[in-house]
Amino acid sequence: MNEGLDAASRERARLSFDLDVDICIVGAGLAGLTVALEAARLGASVAVLEGRHVGRNASGNQLGTVMPGYALSLGELIERVGFEDASELWALSKQGAEYVRGLASEESMPGIAMSEGVLEVSNVDVGDQLISRLQMLNEDFATEAEGWQIDRVRSELKTGRYFHGVYYPRAFQIDGRKYIHGLASLARRSGARIFEDTPVVSIDPSGIRKRIVTPSARLRASHIVLAGNIHLGAPLRRLSETLLPVWRYAGITAPLGDRLGEALAFRGSVTDTDNIDHFRVVDGDRLMWASPETTWAANPKRFAGAISRRIATIFPQLGRVEIAEAFGGAIGQTVHGMPQIGQLRKGLWVASGFGRQGLNTSAMAGQLIARSILWGDERWRLFSPFELVWAGGITGRVAGYFVGLWNRGASAAGGALARHRERVRIQDRVREARLAEANRQAGQRPAVRRPQPGRPVPGRPRPVRPQAPPPPQPQPEAPVTADHGEGEGV
Ligand SMILES: Cc1cc2nc3c(=O)[nH]c(=O)nc-3n(C[C@H](O)[C@H](O)[C@H](O)COP(=O)(O)OP(=O)(O)OC[C@H]3O[C@@H](n4cnc5c(N)ncnc54)[C@H](O)[C@@H]3O)c2cc1C
Repeated sequence: MNEGLDAASRERARLSFDLDVDICIVGAGLAGLTVALEAARLGASVAVLEGRHVGRNASGNQLGTVMPGYALSLGELIERVGFEDASELWALSKQGAEYVRGLASEESMPGIAMSEGVLEVSNVDVGDQLISRLQMLNEDFATEAEGWQIDRVRSELKTGRYFHGVYYPRAFQIDGRKYIHGLASLARRSGARIFEDTPVVSIDPSGIRKRIVTPSARLRASHIVLAGNIHLGAPLRRLSETLLPVWRYAGITAPLGDRLGEALAFRGSVTDTDNIDHFRVVDGDRLMWASPETTWAANPKRFAGAISRRIATIFPQLGRVEIAEAFGGAIGQTVHGMPQIGQLRKGLWVASGFGRQGLNTSAMAGQLIARSILWGDERWRLFSPFELVWAGGITGRVAGYFVGLWNRGASAAGGALARHRERVRIQDRVREARLAEANRQAGQRPAVRRPQPGRPVPGRPRPVRPQAPPPPQPQPEAPVTADHGEGEGV
């Protein structure tokens, strides 16, 4: 455990006295702590109230991959808000990533282990779509991105499951747990006060000075920032209900030794375009891998087997791997796929709904909200088109679960079809090459005395009739089940 973590646990304190502050933040996840750090740096008095402990949920259980963008794809973003606003929103998401890079130095967060490069791979063969996406990223959205052909992807990730890839050289990864605790330490050092085991049970946002109630204290603040994600609950239940909670589970394998290097040369993070698998190498020879999801809370240990099976599906050469540690957290998904950032009424702010991509987006939200409160920066209004939409309650969760299964099933089926087509193409090519070779040999045969029927020419083999190889046999596919697509059910 590093000094930052020691300090974080030493200072763990419950709020047991009344307090008056400029800004009260509900939730000590990535979002709440970034608002706290930025607001404290700009001179505000800040109290963060956390129901359990710093990084208790998703923020303390993520994989540490930092990329530009949002859960909503670039194409959909342009469709929703037009090119100009999409371009500004994208630029903000890049600034969020650079903000994390700026904080995550070895000096301020020892052991943060930053490394560069993230690869987004496709489960299906869509080279033509890749070119237009790259053009858009490079030319219109000023984002460095390289297109990788299938051969390049497969030389780095030795699996036939992936086709093309988009490589982001400026995206990076860090130790996610060190980051959240480092963020808390930085916020404290800048003057923010963080109270743990202090759930907020109600708020009264009317009036200039707003009231916040916890089991053993009352606060008054000019601004309240709701950064409680799906757990917010009682203080503003209607807000929690605009998020679909999705529990995502991850695991770290036992050391895999040299066999890992033989399966994976790439050392950055890998995500697939269907958002099913997300993995990277950690500690030299272990894999950290996130994949299973549910719309109800479950013990992450139950998913160790599913993660191990998923790894074997993608990298069969690794065999069955042991999962040494399993963890997970709940992400809040909005109906439109964009985070909730902005002012609900005067002095009442929201920062949540960051989905699977919370590092850059929560950093951006923290900056935008702190700067709006203290400097009047109004750029958060770019998020106004993405309103608070009810996520459907229990019915929404059930539907969300089945939509998730359907997406996984569709992705598995699409991948199986793409790989089958690839095999057929290869078999066709081999057959054509054999025919061409046979024809070439037949055409080059030197003119010789016509042998008498039934008598071979001495010293010369019998001419061989070119034979077409047997037609390609479709390979049996792994059964596509609704349960995570390929037999990795939980
Ligand atoms: C397995 C996994 C891997 C991931 N990997 C990545 C990744 O590599 N890169 C990436 O960018 N994103 C990743 N994410 C997503 C990212 O972790 C989330 O988007 C992000 O952590 C959300 O942060 P948050 O602050 O909004 O919410 P949370 O982390 O949920 O924090 C909210 C906090 O508020 C507290 N709280 C709630 N209500 C109250 C209340 N009434 N009173 C007091 N406290 C309250 C909660 O206890 C909690 O601590 C991953 C997520 C998971 C689960």
